[in-house]
Amino acid sequence: MTTIAFIGLGNMGNPMAANLVKAGHTVLGFDLMPENLAVARDHGVTIMANAVAAVKDADVVITMLPAGKHVLSVYEDIAPKAKQGALFIDSSTIDVESARKAHAVAKKHGLASIDAPVSGGTGGASAGTLTFMAGGSDDAFTKAEPILKPMAGRIVHCGGDGAGQAAKICNNMILGISMIGVAEAFVLAEKLGLSHQALFDVASTSSGQCWSLTSYCPVPGPVPASPANRDYKPGFAAALMLKDLKLSQEAAQGAGAVTPLGAEAAQLYALFNAQGGAASDFSGIINFLRGK
Ligand code: NAD
Repeated sequence: MTTIAFIGLGNMGNPMAANLVKAGHTVLGFDLMPENLAVARDHGVTIMANAVAAVKDADVVITMLPAGKHVLSVYEDIAPKAKQGALFIDSSTIDVESARKAHAVAKKHGLASIDAPVSGGTGGASAGTLTFMAGGSDDAFTKAEPILKPMAGRIVHCGGDGAGQAAKICNNMILGISMIGVAEAFVLAEKLGLSHQALFDVASTSSGQCWSLTSYCPVPGPVPASPANRDYKPGFAAALMLKDLKLSQEAAQGAGAVTPLGAEAAQLYALFNAQGGAASDFSGIINFLRGK
């Protein structure tokens, strides 16, 4: 049993913290939003007055915050006050540069750290089946693995500092591009008089096969669990897809990588978000492509 501080108890953080409590850990939580703290308390998290109070006696500190600026500002506050030798795990999705800066802050204070963003959404967070993509030293990863286990279906050590964030944004760039590709194919099929089911039956067992088609089909019917069957209620909101695509483009510019389809996907999701799609599932971009 380990004492774990959990900072950022939102849609993802709350169910993740609940799984740590279920695994027998003592979880000390903090969030800026009182309503999220109330949910965490119901899950058995001990609520602390602020982030510093939460980390003071913790062996492990997990952050699940919106963006790089939040992670860096929280790290600057808590790293000097953390227990000597504590392990810092940041599971937020943030830019690679901020992730590396966060590692540097931790190192400056003698703390072990990994970046460990997740995929699997709120469903995976509740079920304890998230995929963790970890970046950091072998030592830090070895310490982190048993802590991540109650929240995880899969844990992959991707490389050194920032490698987890790099894997996350590359994966989500594939996802954004492939969802647009699948949605465009359904829109073209509609115009050609081809049924959704016929396209699905062919493409799902042909060279067009991909996760956006077979697990997350953007039209209702072929995959009953996909958000298209519940009016595109997320799931994975289009606003978060846009965030990840922007991160991929920032990273591409910084690294000098040419990603024209990633850039186009970012622009299309920006338009979809601006036209009211932000809160809907990212597969709802099919309606934007239909001109609706
Ligand atoms: P969220 O907005 O629901 O939760 C973020 C929480 O952080 C909020 O409760 C907010 O009050 C809190 N917070 C912000 N600044 C804080 C501070 N200084 N101190 C303490 N708490 C603070 O967001 P989420 O959906 O839980 O996502 C969290 C991270 O996980 C994001 O980086 C997101 O991109 C990533 N992510 C989300 C999903 C998803 O499906 N929701 C999937 C994978 C990854």
